[in-house]
Amino acid sequence: MANQLPYDHTMNPTELALNISEVQRRIQSATAAAGRATGAVSLLAVSKTKPAGAIRLAYEQGLTEFGENYAQELVEKAGALKELPLCWHFIGPIQSNKTRAIAENSDWVHSIDRLKIAHRLSEQRPAERGPLNILIQVNISGEASKSGVSPEALPELVHHIKALPRLALRGLMTIPAPAPLAEDPRLPFKHLRALFETLNDQAPELDTLSMGMSADLEAAIAEGATHVRVGTDIFGARYN
Ligand SMILES: *Cc1c(COP(=O)(O)O)cnc(C)c1O
Repeated sequence: MANQLPYDHTMNPTELALNISEVQRRIQSATAAAGRATGAVSLLAVSKTKPAGAIRLAYEQGLTEFGENYAQELVEKAGALKELPLCWHFIGPIQSNKTRAIAENSDWVHSIDRLKIAHRLSEQRPAERGPLNILIQVNISGEASKSGVSPEALPELVHHIKALPRLALRGLMTIPAPAPLAEDPRLPFKHLRALFETLNDQAPELDTLSMGMSADLEAAIAEGATHVRVGTDIFGARYN
């Protein structure tokens, strides 16, 4: 990016527009290469650490779905931009004392890996808003990554979350651990998709696979991603 300030209040609109159209081109090309329908993959722009002004510029380029990792940032930006018809996805680790802010300000939460957090979100979801869309984060890389439920524990968590009244369980999310260069980048996504398919009897309503980021969105789309989460390749590098 042209602007190297740690907190970029002056994102260059031309550069942002070019970044967005390039990411959209990559998504379309990967979707077509996989023989999937045009529009089968939604782009979620990960705006963590970036100011509300950058989100507004991205909205002016046609984006409406944004991902945030920190509850405080979500509250500030959703508040600052509340006149825009944006869809907010919370994608970061969740502490118990942040669930109310998340339940009140998100449309989706991708990072559920504990029943206790799901319970609190269901209790704290405001009555005037629809059910909160939920994805369970799965740790498909074993010990290499800290967040996410293990594949073995997934069916039981699905069972309990389905019973929570103010949540709508929609699918699965994963963040693969960095893999050795020689490894097929599609492997972790293949694994998540296989797990998703094993849930079909238990939860046929699930329709969402959140996987793929700036570096690996093509591999994720080839394996059936319905949402890719792209930060760096839209908003540039993060300095904080
Ligand atoms: C930061 C983040 C992303 C975006 O990663 P990039 O490599 O910048 O595209 C996607 N998903 C999650 C959960 C993140 O924390």
